[in-house]
Amino acid sequence: MRRVYLDSNASAPILPEVFETMRPFFFLEESFGNASSIHHYGQQARAAVEQARESVAQLFNCRAADIVFTSGGTEGDNLALLGIVRPGEHVITSTIEHPAVQNSSKRLRQLGCEITELPVNGLGQIDPDDVRRALRRRTTMISVMMANNETGVIQPVEEIGKIAREARVHFHTDAVQAAGRIPIDVHALHCDLLSISGHKLHAPQGVGAAYVSKSALLIPIFNGGGQERGRRSGTENVPGIVALGKAAEIARRGLTDGTNEQLRQWRDRLEQTITETLEATGINGRQAPRVANTTNIFFDYVEGEALVIALDLKGVAVSSGAACSSGATEPSHVLTAMGMSKDRARSSLRFSLGKHTRAEDIDYVLSVLPEALTRLRDLSPLYKKSSISS
Ligand code: PLP
Repeated sequence: MRRVYLDSNASAPILPEVFETMRPFFFLEESFGNASSIHHYGQQARAAVEQARESVAQLFNCRAADIVFTSGGTEGDNLALLGIVRPGEHVITSTIEHPAVQNSSKRLRQLGCEITELPVNGLGQIDPDDVRRALRRRTTMISVMMANNETGVIQPVEEIGKIAREARVHFHTDAVQAAGRIPIDVHALHCDLLSISGHKLHAPQGVGAAYVSKSALLIPIFNGGGQERGRRSGTENVPGIVALGKAAEIARRGLTDGTNEQLRQWRDRLEQTITETLEATGINGRQAPRVANTTNIFFDYVEGEALVIALDLKGVAVSSGAACSSGATEPSHVLTAMGMSKDRARSSLRFSLGKHTRAEDIDYVLSVLPEALTRLRDLSPLYKKSSISS
């Protein structure tokens, strides 16, 4: 069976070029070493880590010294919030953040902080004026994501950064789903902290990076041997970091060499064909600026999870965006925050393309989707009723 992977926002497959760059760092006969060792092996590992740091810094237009390697986006988000905010302070964030930010905020609340979660409009965007209005005397942190993982909607982070700068408040942005998909310049963003994750960038799972400006007074959350200039103890994941450096280089290239533009064209074709040929479908957040690789589409009268399974049986991997906790399927908190009904949120699927995507993949999805959808709708009493009444 043909298989098509359109779930890059969950994990983007490692690129062969990236894997080849990291492979020698597993073998003693090649480039293995602990970057803290002073001998030959340590020196070669250290040099590779520093080269990767330089590459990631170029992706953000920052100094290499401001990059801290982490285990991924979750750690970067935890570091930014728990490492900066102190008990009694006030944090402004949003209702559509990833659980890594939302649950870090929850933890801060338990530690005596006050948290304001700002709403989004129907397109999934935060209003910068709401950020300004939410500022208080004790506000020390604003954390707003750059691009949403479910819809791809880009937030007005430059404006929010400006507000934070004027108010002398830290600004953190979770750029996990934005890195490599839109340009990032930490100076233009006026951000003090920014987190990314390797596996959304075609590097391996379990590695990431955070930008931490030198003005951010970070109290590390990992205590140990003082690696990463004391900001993140723990032996560096040398192969992962090397891979992230390579992936950052490829991501930077992809912003200008037409790769991202190609993904946008395929994404748009997918959206257009689905919405024009399949009734009761539509794009969530369509009118907002979005990253090129992501689309979130509702298919009224079906359960998104059932459609995910039906497509999986045809070899197509997508995501329903529904969070499964304690056995109960909850509708997406992002889509409901946009004002969508629970039913429509439950009927929505995320398709996310990557550098491995080919035009034939889109053709294949478009060839199998109508039948999968029709079968499910034929089983839906609500759909039958609506067809009879219309
Ligand atoms: N932030 C966003 C927006 C994400 O989409 C994800 C992963 O899905 C994370 C944070 C967490 O990243 P990681 O899986 O590297 O911990």
